[in-house]
Amino acid sequence: MNATSPPRYLVTGASRGIGRAIAERLAAEGARIAGTATRAENLLGTQEAVEEAGGEFLAFGGDVADPMTAQSAVAGMVEAWGGVDGLVANAGITRDGLLMRMAADDFDQVVSTNLGGAFHFVKAVARPMMKQRAGRIVLVSSVVAITGNPGQANYCASKAGLHGLARSVACELGSRNIGVNVVAPGYIETDMTEELPEDARQAMLAKTVSGRAGTSQDVAGAVQFLLSPDSAYVTGQVLVVDGGLSLG
Ligand code: NAP
Repeated sequence: MNATSPPRYLVTGASRGIGRAIAERLAAEGARIAGTATRAENLLGTQEAVEEAGGEFLAFGGDVADPMTAQSAVAGMVEAWGGVDGLVANAGITRDGLLMRMAADDFDQVVSTNLGGAFHFVKAVARPMMKQRAGRIVLVSSVVAITGNPGQANYCASKAGLHGLARSVACELGSRNIGVNVVAPGYIETDMTEELPEDARQAMLAKTVSGRAGTSQDVAGAVQFLLSPDSAYVTGQVLVVDGGLSLG
């Protein structure tokens, strides 16, 4: 990227919820966005919103747990735009259940999607970023990676893994001017949390000192900061965006 060209950001899980809000927020400030989802067609709404904001959009489909998905998205971006300035590894799933009833498949699927998926994308963007001697990487974790949560041993393990991944890669790539950080959201209203039982929702809200559920925009603002030059001296950190849920 030179001083005049718009930044090029890759956002996984950009079809809905937090990822879509991040894509739209970045596009509104003039960035070019490559978005991923399980199927490229799922990104049509995001593409329309980005293009309405005057931005360029590339859509990539595929399972993030498959390393080829990351490799082809990054290759496509490099071919179209010549590089990658920022990665937001946001795609994630839940398969909740108490430990004694949790199938090994539910553990494996969550870890390979949430942690493995982020690893594949971080690895894929590392080469163009190292070549550019610049880049910003943000991994979307969860506050439950820090606090733990009954019924989410698989999810909490996958998200806590992202913290170690970010810190280690921050150490490896810092000398190349690549920053790696984590945003850890609290309770955010999206499709993911829509299926929560009402009592679980009320319990989360009761613990949230801000007194309201978070929005995808609340998370997008924090991600935008960690991609921007304003956070150039911040790396290997976890920014909790939970309205004080973890204080309660
Ligand atoms: P969401 O509404 O369920 O959206 C999930 C996104 O990830 C979708 O774009 C989905 O694509 C994509 N995705 C899921 N599995 C995928 C796979 N195997 N391969 C490729 N793409 C996949 O979730 P959200 O609430 O926005 O959450 C976004 C991130 O924030 C997740 O990592 C989540 O763990 C984290 N988070 C959420 C909350 C919350 O309260 N909502 C709190 C803390 C952390 P399709 O549309 O194609 O399915």
